[in-house]
Parts: sequence; C-alpha cells; structure tokens
Amino acid sequence: MASNRRDFMKKTLIGISGALMVSNRAHGENIYFGSKDLQSDLPSRILGKTGIRIPLISLGTSGITNSNFIRTAYNAGIRVFFSATYYGEGNNEILVGQGLRNFPRDSYVVATAAPAEGLDMRTGALTEEFNADVYLKKAEDSLKRFGLDYIDIFVFPGAGKRETLLNRNLLDALTKLKNQGKVKFLGIASHANTEEAIDAALEAGIFDVAMISYNFKVPKRESLDAVIDRAAKAGMGIVAMKTTAGAFREKGGFPLNTNAALKWVLQNENISCIVSGMRTIEELEKNLKMIQDLKMTDQEINDLQASLISSETGLYCLQCQKCLEQCQQDIDIPTIMRSYMYAYGYKDPELALYTLESAKLHKVPCMECDTCSVTCSAGFNIKEKVLDIIRLQKVPREFIVNRI
Ligand code: SF4
Ligand code: SF4
Repeated sequence: MASNRRDFMKKTLIGISGALMVSNRAHGENIYFGSKDLQSDLPSRILGKTGIRIPLISLGTSGITNSNFIRTAYNAGIRVFFSATYYGEGNNEILVGQGLRNFPRDSYVVATAAPAEGLDMRTGALTEEFNADVYLKKAEDSLKRFGLDYIDIFVFPGAGKRETLLNRNLLDALTKLKNQGKVKFLGIASHANTEEAIDAALEAGIFDVAMISYNFKVPKRESLDAVIDRAAKAGMGIVAMKTTAGAFREKGGFPLNTNAALKWVLQNENISCIVSGMRTIEELEKNLKMIQDLKMTDQEINDLQASLISSETGLYCLQCQKCLEQCQQDIDIPTIMRSYMYAYGYKDPELALYTLESAKLHKVPCMECDTCSVTCSAGFNIKEKVLDIIRLQKVPREFIVNRI
C-alpha cells in the first residue's frame, strides 16, 4: 500500500515536470522585455514576459523588522523582494528601501501589493467605493516610502473575480502608472478563485505576473495546472505563495518537511519563483541550499504524502469558499482562516490583524449561533477558530504593528 502511494506521488511529480519543461522552452527564453541583470548566482528561471531571470527563491518581507536582513538576503543572492502597502502600515516598504539603498537599482526587483479600497474580500467584487485617483496615490506613496523612482512589479491583491480584473477604471489606472514609468510591470495576487483570476488577468491583457497560492494541498490541482500552463505560455510570470501549506501543525506545533513542500512547488517549471517569508539566517541558508538540488528524495515524497493523508488538519485553509454559503451570518470565513494561519503558523500577528480587519466583521461573530452550520472541507472546527482569532482585535494596535 505504501509503495503504491509513493508510486502515485512520483508519477504525479514526473508528469508535472515533463509537461512543463516543454512549455518553459516554448515561452521563457524567447520573450524578453526586461533589461535587468540581477547578478545572482542562484538557480533561476525567467519571470514570463518581463524577461527578468530571477532566483528560485524570493523574499516575502512581511514580518521583517530590520533592514539588515534585507541586505543579508541580497548579499546571499536574493534579488526579488515582495512587500505590500499594508505591511507595518507602510513601514515595511521603508525598511525594504533602506535595505536595498546601496545596491545597483537594476540588480534587484521590488514588488509591492496595494489593496484597492472598495474591494470586497468576501466576493472579490470591486464596489463603487473604488476611486482610481486614490488608488494611483497609493502607488505614489509607495514610491516615496521605498525611496525609489519606480516599482518593478505593482500587484493588485485579492484578485478572484473576472469583472474586477476587467474593470475599466482599474485597468486605466494601472495602465497610467505603467505609462508614467512609475511601475515597470503589473501583477495580480490571488488566494481564491485563482483559475478565474488568471484567466481574467490574461483577458485584461495588461498583467505580466500572477502571484498565486500553490502547494501540494492545493485543491483542483489538475485544472489549476492547466490554467497556469496556459498563462505561462502566454508569457505570464507565475510566482508561488503559500507554498508550505499544511507544513504547520496546530498552533504551538512545528513545521513539517518544508524542503519537501517547496521542492514540490518547483517541480512545476511554470513557477518562476517561490515567495518565502524568511526571517532568520537559518531559514535563508536552508532555502538557498534546497534550491541547489530540486530532486525530491523518497523521504521527502513520503513526508508530503504523510501530510496529505494526515488526520491533523493543520492550519491551511484551502480557500475553497465552500463555507461561505453555509454560514448563518455570512461572515468571510476564508479570510478569517487566513488570519488564523498568519497568527499561529507564520507567527505574524501584524499580517493576521490586517487580514482579520479586511474581513470587515461588524460584530463579534458566532456568538449568536448555538451550533455552527458550517462543515469545512479542511475539517476545521470553524466556530472554535473564529472565536479564537477574533481576540486579536482586542489587542492594542501598538503591540502588534511593527514600527520603525
Ligand atoms: S470550507 Fe474550510 S477550507 Fe474551504 S474556505 Fe472555508 S474554511 Fe477554508
Ligand atoms: S458559528 Fe460562526 S461560522 Fe458557524 S454559522 Fe455561526 S457565524 Fe457562521
């Protein structure tokens, strides 16, 4: 039985790798719009039609509290840095800018995610609250905080709904930023409804990069891989996030085989790089060692397989959204569960709080339900977890948000 599972896993992995090598050859080396030489010796891939060859690991800067770590990562070969306007309420972008200040501007890539006011996280719809001028100002403010003349990749997060990514006001605003030279490339980030998001981004025609949740537990993997393949062939650079899903046990637990989880993601050659929220030199060194040899060992395959069949639910919400229609109070459970994972898995209370607030809870949820009507695909006890994580809203803000 055990060897059957192993064979199945191996076949799956080989299948992915073989198919995608073809597609990588088909688009990667021939489409080149970028002009950066990132001067890194780390194993790398081309980021779609940006043409930039980027290391397989990039740094997700959420939770970084010191610009020295940015410098350390750069000196170790990391060249792509993913921040967001809301990390540390903007302070994170300042730290990233400070950390990179003395390095050649064309030797690194800075990306930032800027959520749009008026984006309903629960439905993915852009409401009438959206104001293009306000959104444009977000990019200007980011530039000031980074201390840069341009942002390499400006990312629209919360992508999932086709209508949103085809919203004319949004597309015009983003195109304006690009035409003004304030951003070089445009991206989306998607946690849920990712297939729809990627297809819509392709249809919109202005997006160069898609950041997506991608890991060995991702639901509907075959159809997602097909969409990723289509996007990669069209020149979309694909960046994987949430790559260690399920690698955290319950709160207070420990990471499982993260090397195996990350290697699994990189078997798909349509994935240009992984965003890793590294915080320590040990994590950095571990990841840099891992990308030197992507071949998965039998032990690693077994470890992933064990995680897949484990009865322990871990902390990863599949973002399948099946809970939404079951909840009696219409609360945004997938977003709340992401907050739970950020708090207990990533140990990043600031990101957890921001995510929790984006769920826009108008009252303390769950208190009015005698029993919870939600059956979660991942097996979470939803009511218990919601009541646990919402306590974060009571913690004084200054204890949570990273200040410089
Ligand atoms: S049903 Fe469970 S796994 Fe799916 S989105 Fe809701 S909380 Fe997450
Ligand atoms: S207990 Fe909470 S999650 Fe469950 S149905 Fe009620 S409000 Fe929704």
